[in-house]
Order: sequence, then structure tokens, then C-alpha cells
Amino acid sequence: MKTFEPVLPAGYVKTKEIDAKESGFALKLNLLGMIPTAAIIAVAFIVIRPFTRETVMSNPYILPGLIGFLVSYIIYIVLHELTHGAAYKALTGRKLKFGFTGLVAFCGVPDIYVYRATALISLLAPFVVFSIVFGILSAVLTDPWLRFLAWTLLAVHIGGCAGDLYDTFLLLFKFRNPELLMNDTGPVQTFYEPQK
Ligand SMILES: [Zn+2]
Repeated sequence: MKTFEPVLPAGYVKTKEIDAKESGFALKLNLLGMIPTAAIIAVAFIVIRPFTRETVMSNPYILPGLIGFLVSYIIYIVLHELTHGAAYKALTGRKLKFGFTGLVAFCGVPDIYVYRATALISLLAPFVVFSIVFGILSAVLTDPWLRFLAWTLLAVHIGGCAGDLYDTFLLLFKFRNPELLMNDTGPVQTFYEPQK
């Protein structure tokens, strides 16, 4: 199975461009991502009750948990992009580009055009991997504060995937031609389809 084209084949036309550098769009995506994040944190807070009087007074994990959370989150941002990169690398073997726009971290494979299936796998890889990782963490931690922080990690992860899930949604429901090619510079994804 061909996973990419090194140059755009003849007869393809640009049908969509998604630009995370465009401030209005990035802001909308970030705001949209906050909805599931806030919902998950709210439910976890109500169900786990990390701040009952007994745990606040006696829990030795309050500060270490908070520091662990912040460190985990920063490591996660890097690992999230590396997971996109690992999928792209495994499927195409081409040169990757990593970066940060101030609002979003990104990983792209700017010099080639990847087929729809390759695009979907790379877009969804971090969402799947870290939903499992943080899901397991949320289940195994027994201390209520630490368990709440694990749920919070899961929540910010899911919200942070808003851009990836938006692209995935478009590819699953709107751009369904398997011949579709995507150029991914990192912040900008451009879709190309063969002219009918
Ligand atoms: Zn991503």
C-alpha cells in the first residue's frame, strides 16, 4: 500500500486548508477543546471528591501531586508530538518537522503528500495512546487527590487533541476519498483531491 507521494500527482486540486496559525481558528479550537476538558474535570471532582476535609488536612501528596502533574503535562506535550512523528516516520520514513506556535505544539512531514489512511493514523495515534495511558493511571491510583489529577491529565489531553480530532472528523465524514492526499507542515494541513 502506498502511504504517500513525494510530489503532488497531476490532476489533484487543493480542496481544504486548515491553519492552526490563524489566530481566530486556533482560539476557536482551544475554546472548543475546553468543553470536554471542563466536563471531565467537573465530573471527576464531584465523583472523587479530592478536597474532602480529611484528605486536605492529612494528604501528604497535595504538593508532590501538583508538581508531578505539571511535570507530567509538559512531558506529555512533547510525547504527544513525538507520537505523531513516530507514526509518520513508521509509515513514510520521511523527514519530520516539530515546532511550537505559542498556542499549539505541532509535528508535520512537510515535504510529502500523505494518503488519507496515513493521515488518519498519524492524527489519531497520540489521542489513542494517551487516552489509554491516562485512563489506566486514573484507574490504578487510589489516593483521591492523585486520582483526580490523573483524570485532569486525561481531560486536558482530550481537550488538547481538539485540532487532531477536528482534522480526523473532516477526513472521516467530509473528505472520504481514499485517494485524498494531505500535506502537513505541522501547523497547516492542506487536502488535495483528484479532479473528477
Ligand atoms: Zn496532536
